[in-house]
Amino acid sequence: MIRIIKVHPLDNVVIPVQDAPAGTEVATGVKTAQDIPQGHKIALKDLSKGDEVIRYGVALGNLVQDIPAGGHIDENMLELPHPPDLDQMAWGKPAAEEPFPEDLPATFEGYELPGSRFAGTRNILGIMTSVQCVAGVMNLALEKIRGELLPRYPNVDDVTVLNHNYGCGCSIDAPDAVIPIRTLKNLLRNPNFGGEVMVVALGCEKLTLDMLLEPNENNPENVIVLQEVNGLRAMIDAIFIMAEKKMRKLNERRRVTLPLERLCIGVQCGGSDSFSGITANPATGYASDLLVRAGGTVLFPEVTEVRDGVQFISERCESRELSRKLAGEMKWYDAYLERGGADLSANPSPGNKAGGISNIMEKTMGAIAKAGSVPIKGILSAGEQVEHLNKKGLMFAVTPASDFHCGTLLLASGTTVQVFTTGRGTPYGLAAAPVIKLSSRTELKNLWEDIIDIDAGTIAEGKESINQVGERLFKMIVSTASGRHKPFAEMYRLYNDLCIFDPAPIT
Ligand code: CA
Repeated sequence: MIRIIKVHPLDNVVIPVQDAPAGTEVATGVKTAQDIPQGHKIALKDLSKGDEVIRYGVALGNLVQDIPAGGHIDENMLELPHPPDLDQMAWGKPAAEEPFPEDLPATFEGYELPGSRFAGTRNILGIMTSVQCVAGVMNLALEKIRGELLPRYPNVDDVTVLNHNYGCGCSIDAPDAVIPIRTLKNLLRNPNFGGEVMVVALGCEKLTLDMLLEPNENNPENVIVLQEVNGLRAMIDAIFIMAEKKMRKLNERRRVTLPLERLCIGVQCGGSDSFSGITANPATGYASDLLVRAGGTVLFPEVTEVRDGVQFISERCESRELSRKLAGEMKWYDAYLERGGADLSANPSPGNKAGGISNIMEKTMGAIAKAGSVPIKGILSAGEQVEHLNKKGLMFAVTPASDFHCGTLLLASGTTVQVFTTGRGTPYGLAAAPVIKLSSRTELKNLWEDIIDIDAGTIAEGKESINQVGERLFKMIVSTASGRHKPFAEMYRLYNDLCIFDPAPIT
C-alpha cells in the first residue's frame, strides 16, 4: 500500500509518500497511469488543457496539455497564473470560526514585563553592545559573569551578549538605516530580558546612544562607554558590577500563571524540502491557529518565501489598510532586491523540482501553510515591535527568509518562543528565546535524534494526522514558554549569532 496525501479538500491532485508504480490506486477508481516518483502530483480526475491544477486549495497554474485521471503532472505541464497586481489584491476573506478546544492548556507560566502586553518565557540578562568594536571585551566579561555571577542568582536563566555587526562603518543617515537601528533598539526590549537595560558602547561609533535608548535610560546606571574607562581590567570590572546590579533585580522575577494572550511566538522555516509543505509546515499552521484561538499572537515572517503567493496573504488581511501596508512592504522589498541585481523570483531549485515542487506558487503555498487559516490582524515592518500594533492574533512580519536575519528580527519584534521547521536539517537556535525544531521527514529525526524536537514526518507515514502533530507542537510551545520544557537547542546551547538586517550601504 502506498500512502497518498491530499492537502486541501478542493485539491484535484494528490501526492504519493513513496514512489508509486503504475496501477497504484490513489483514490476510489483512480489508478496511477505510469510510475510516479515520491512527492510528485497525480491527477485525481481527467483534466483538460487550460484547467487549473489545484493544490493547497489554490490554483498552482493552468495545464498546457490534457492529463488523464491518475496521470503525472510535472513542472513542464503547468503555466504559471498571472502574478497579482499589488494594488488590486483582495482582502477580508472570511475564515472559519472555530472554538479553542477545552482540553488544551489556555494558560502558561510566564514572566510579566511591566508596561507590556506580552510576557517573557525566560529570565535572561541581555547585555546590548552598540558596536562590534566592543565584542571582544564583552565576551571576556561574559565568561566571568557566567562563571561567577550566574550561580549566585538562581532565578536568572542565563546571561547573553547581544553582539552584532552593526554600529559603525554603516550609512547611519540612509533612509533604510531605520531598520537596523529599530532592530537593535527593540531587541533589548524583548520580554525575555525583563526590561533591564544595559548597554556597552565604544564612544565614537556612528550608532549613538540616543538612537538606542530613551532619554531616561541613557545614563551611567545603564551605559558603560569603554573609551571613558581606564584599561581592560577596569572595563571588565565595570561591566561585572553593572551586570550584578541588573541580575539582582532580574532574580526577583517569578513566573506567574497568565492567559495565552500574553504570549507572542514566531514561526519560520529553513532548509525546506518537498515534505515541508505537507507535514511540518501545516502542523505548525495548526498549532498557530490553536494559539491564536486561545488569544495568543503569532508572527509569520519571510518575504522571499511568500512573495509569489502574496495575494493569498492579502486576502486574509482583515482590512484594506493592512492589505495596502502589505503591498507597500512588498514594493519596498522588490526594489531592494532589484537594486542589488538579485533574481526577483524564488524559482524552485533543481532539488525542489526533483522532489515534486513544480513552480514558485507551489513552493510558496508550502511556506504559507505555516500561517494556518486564521485572519491576519497586522503587518509588521522589519524589526517593528508587536507591542506597538495594539493587536493580537496572526501577524505577517516583514523579514528576509535568511534564517539568522529572520530570527533576529523576530526577537526584535518581541517573540519569546520560536518554531522552526526544517526538511534538510539545521541545528538552528537562539540564546535569547527557545527554538523548537520540527523535521518534515522521519529520516531527519532518526539522523538527528538529539537536535530535532518534533518529527512531523509521521504525517507522511500515516502514523499521525496534521492536527495531532499540531496539537503536540502546541503543547510543547506552552510547556516551553512555561519553562517546564527545554528544546534541544536550548538544552545544548546551540546558539546562532544575531544577524542584523541592514539594507543600507556599508561605508
Ligand atoms: Ca528561513
